[in-house]
Amino acid sequence: MIDTYEAVIGIEVHVELATRAKIFCACENTAGGAPNSNICPVCMGLPGSMPVFNGRVLELAVRAGLSLDCKIAKKTRFDRKNYFYPDLPKGYQISQNEYPICRDGYIDIGEKVIGIERIHMEEDAGKLIHDAERGTLVDYNRCGVPLIEIVSAPDIRTPEQARAYLTELRLRLIYAGVSECKMQLGQLRCDVNLSVRKKGQTALGVRTEIKNINSFAFVAKAIEYEFARQVGVLESGGKIASETRRYDADSGKTVLMRTKESAADYRFFPEPDLLPFGVSEEYVEQIRANLPQMPASRIKKYVDGYGLREEDARIIVERAALARYFDSVSALTEYKRVAANLLISELLGESATDSFECALPPEHLAQISTLYGEQTVNSSTAKKVLFMSGQTGESPEKIVREHGLAQISDREYLRGVLQQVMADNPKLIDDYRAGKAAAKKAIIGKAMALTSGKANPLVLNEIFENA
Ligand code: ZN
Ligand code: MN
Repeated sequence: MIDTYEAVIGIEVHVELATRAKIFCACENTAGGAPNSNICPVCMGLPGSMPVFNGRVLELAVRAGLSLDCKIAKKTRFDRKNYFYPDLPKGYQISQNEYPICRDGYIDIGEKVIGIERIHMEEDAGKLIHDAERGTLVDYNRCGVPLIEIVSAPDIRTPEQARAYLTELRLRLIYAGVSECKMQLGQLRCDVNLSVRKKGQTALGVRTEIKNINSFAFVAKAIEYEFARQVGVLESGGKIASETRRYDADSGKTVLMRTKESAADYRFFPEPDLLPFGVSEEYVEQIRANLPQMPASRIKKYVDGYGLREEDARIIVERAALARYFDSVSALTEYKRVAANLLISELLGESATDSFECALPPEHLAQISTLYGEQTVNSSTAKKVLFMSGQTGESPEKIVREHGLAQISDREYLRGVLQQVMADNPKLIDDYRAGKAAAKKAIIGKAMALTSGKANPLVLNEIFENA
């Protein structure tokens, strides 16, 4: 039965911007600190205080818009969104209603294109802390933290599409330097709007909004649950109520928070303390010219320019910190593919998708890549040197020099080594002549051991084959 329905999903994403100061005052934009230690009359909305717009917020909002292929508004302004809630001391939020800074962007997730209707700038509210002993407490430190809200078109149909959209969106914002988008710190929060309808129908059903989901996995689960719930209500003859719900990770269900406000309830009007302002073409073009490369074109550069396998390029690009590290390394060595292989196989380890930290300076990975690329060391020595360099902080060049680890390719010398191995192991020679493939491996292995692993295995093989 559920197969005859489809979900119509739009996602609103709130992103905290990586500015030094808050959006309308000089308070620091930092998370944490003692409750109510990072506030001032402006972000508390005390009478007589006046907001002053932080220009860096505009710059980051424009960067976000350009990285999501939006059009940037030529004229924009702030509006007051009025509502009462204990975490909002002013009684209104300064946001943008009619003239958002960006419109009409999109993300192509492969399977389809997801539209972005708008991006607007706004201030964050404070935080309620529910304490078992003292009741509900309010921390206003987050008041006035700069946000952008990115509103998708209702183009999403499945949990997988939602995930693909959000993953790409987040990555672009990180590359654009808009935010670090650390979800565990609440730097990126998702609201999901979802309604259902019979497949083939074009009219929209009544939607519910699931607020403040802080992981993409939970977004997918919330969509799955809410889709089934709404279909269940309709199939049993009920009606969907317009309401705000939240996702409860413990039960895997969405639960009712409150019935929904409509836009009229917010009584939006132009913010009288801030003048409307223009955004010049010149300003936008300057930001566009300085925008870092986005994920898709990075993958292309790594594959077409550096010769990486596409899956390796993806592994690197999906972790912005890893990509930055790789860029520093590849600026220093011709052997970029060697560097990528060592990076992924030896250094990436258990790093989460979010982070990559590496004690090895990029110069050292570049050196070892060049030493291996130029066949100065063989692959097992390269890994050994990488490890020693990580342990001691010494440069790979110095380690190879001081420990005499350079690979031996001298044919005369290696022929001598092989002859000695054969003289010492007549049984292996007999086995080899009898056609046992393992015997050859054993002979080469013994020759490698005799040179402390420094022999060039290709040369060894060749000499043995021609002996
Ligand atoms: Zn302040
Ligand atoms: Mn908002």
